[in-house]
Amino acid sequence: MIPPLPSHYRAMALTRRGDPVLRAIDLALAPPGPGELLLRVARCGVCRTDLHLVDGELKLSQWPRVPGHEAVGTVVAAGAGCRRFAPSARVGVPWLHATCGACDWCHRQRENLCEDAHFTGWTVDGGYAQYLRARERFCFALPERYSDDEAAPLLCAGLIGWRALAMAPEARTLGLYGFGAAGHLVAQVALQQGRSVYAFTRPGDEAAQAHARELGVHWAGGSDDKPPSPTDGALLFAPVGDLVPIALAHSQPGSTIVCAGIHMSDIPRMPYALLWRERCVRSVANLTRRDGEEFFAWSASHPLVIRTEVFALADANEAIARLRSGQVTGAAVLDCR
Ligand SMILES: [Zn+2]
Ligand SMILES: [Zn+2]
Repeated sequence: MIPPLPSHYRAMALTRRGDPVLRAIDLALAPPGPGELLLRVARCGVCRTDLHLVDGELKLSQWPRVPGHEAVGTVVAAGAGCRRFAPSARVGVPWLHATCGACDWCHRQRENLCEDAHFTGWTVDGGYAQYLRARERFCFALPERYSDDEAAPLLCAGLIGWRALAMAPEARTLGLYGFGAAGHLVAQVALQQGRSVYAFTRPGDEAAQAHARELGVHWAGGSDDKPPSPTDGALLFAPVGDLVPIALAHSQPGSTIVCAGIHMSDIPRMPYALLWRERCVRSVANLTRRDGEEFFAWSASHPLVIRTEVFALADANEAIARLRSGQVTGAAVLDCR
């Protein structure tokens, strides 16, 4: 039974230019348009990208804007043409809200690079809210084995981690720089694929290193520590450009260093010798629907231990502050009910 819908709903939003705090606002609940689902949001993960939005490192062009692109909700209404999900079905809403479907990138199976794409919680409102409208074709069915708390961080941390890992297929010893939401998920994927994993955390972050060891990584230390052997590939989840030369220096010839964030501080000048012998530095941008289908099929049959810290929707600013200062072990998730 779907209860009657309210006229308004509560959201945590950025309400004006330059204001670095989310504010509670009430928004009118509009019915879903053609191809759209209206979801009652249960949980929404807090991603590092949301920090970049709050800090103005990702520009907004419209206010208010509701962040959040790791939303798990249930279908309460469906617009014309929707037929993938039944009423009350559980649905995941990722970062990629929609693409144009007509450009060269879209036609070449590289919709993550579409220049006319929209992004959940950036160019359209996201999941830091009781309700969310999403394009049905870009939503995902979620593996039943995961609770709403657990499923939320899969939608970006897990998914972008999965895409980043695919960019370093040759890595038998994989370095992970940053061991938060994405790091702890992709470490488990890499370990289950039979790779060795080295976890590099903020210097002195004993909690993150202990968490990494608990999950079975082969070595954990600070980014200023020397690993026991060179890596042959690395994923950077920390948005710190200084880590690029460090990761190169820790890597074998032929390694790929993948920068997985949408924003990163400047990469410092470095000697060409760090790149020489076919080392490669690349970024990962967004996701494709195919990434999501592959990742959710894999994670349905390969159990992931997902650590979350749950905050009330009204405490979104606190969740962001704790994520910023490195106090969250695993993933921060908002309870939006
Ligand atoms: Zn994200
Ligand atoms: Zn396109």
